Amino acid sequence: RFAATMKSLARRADLKEYVERTPAVYALLQRAAAKYVAGDRRAEALEAGIRLGEKDYAVSIEYIGENTADAAACEDAVREMGEIVRDLAERGMSGRVSFDLSHIGLMVDAELAYKGLVALAEQAEQAGIELFISMEEAAKTEEILAVYRRAAARYSNIGITLQAQLHRTVQDLNRLRSDATGRVRLVKGAYQEPSGLSIPRSEELNERYLGLVEDAIEQGHRISIATHDEGIVDEVIRRGWARLPGVEFEMLYGIRPDLCSRLKQAAYPVRVYLTYGREWYLYLCHRIAEYPPNIYQAIVDIASE
Ligand code: FAD
Repeated sequence: RFAATMKSLARRADLKEYVERTPAVYALLQRAAAKYVAGDRRAEALEAGIRLGEKDYAVSIEYIGENTADAAACEDAVREMGEIVRDLAERGMSGRVSFDLSHIGLMVDAELAYKGLVALAEQAEQAGIELFISMEEAAKTEEILAVYRRAAARYSNIGITLQAQLHRTVQDLNRLRSDATGRVRLVKGAYQEPSGLSIPRSEELNERYLGLVEDAIEQGHRISIATHDEGIVDEVIRRGWARLPGVEFEMLYGIRPDLCSRLKQAAYPVRVYLTYGREWYLYLCHRIAEYPPNIYQAIVDIASE
């Protein structure tokens, strides 16, 4: 229930407007968000990416946004993402550009999202950069996979995120085998879904997660193990999968940097998922929703000068 409340707070336009027009509140919340978000501007994300690169981490970069209902704003988002592609390529960074399809048109119509995705894929392919599609609520899964499959038939530089918590993911992964060769990012899933569609955090979910990693490897997918769950990470290492080509760990910026560092020191490939943009409020609410103790950290960060 707490998670659902945080997610609904993230989506309340009136609260967002209040935060934006109240400088003191804006500044306080922004201080709490700074732990997870590289900054408001693309340049800040790139700087963070360069610093991480110096420590031998790869990065994914997301311009924060979702559920954009205005076509012109979707096109602006595609342009901004194109700038990330250009900046990464100019700096010779092995970055990946990650986004929600609902940020580039899915809420307007799937064709707009597809057009934006193809425009980005074309540019990214020439620049040698990989794109990555995030997975959103279960109500959008079918449409997201359909847009992905269409684009993946033309471009091999697009990856897709799958959520272990959804029952359908076992079949979805299987279906990708035949028609998409892009990398798969496996997450547990950040959304509260009806129990008929998903399983909650549990040993059963962890076992399913590991089963999906095994299936993905057997099917020849490159895979990102995108979790902060140390038990899963250690099991992936114990089973020898972490040394296989195409397998990497990926974690969100600001969460478990100690675990990232331990993996890096043991010479496993680690990617850090960086976000930036003025929608950091949304992102902060998501991180608190998925791990409620973060609210205490947020209060500490707000209180500290
Ligand atoms: P959990 O069981 O939730 O957590 C395991 C442990 O990790 C916790 O006990 C805690 O120690 C630590 N931890 C987890 N979350 C936090 C946090 N917020 N703050 C501090 N500590 C934490 N979800 C989607 O639904 N769609 C996506 O497209 C998507 N993309 C993602 C991309 C990446 C690279 C990553 C790492 C996650 C992504 N997620 C996405 C979020 C994901 O689904 C989970 O909600 C999130 O990773 C937390 O789950 P967990 O696997 O870390 O395991």
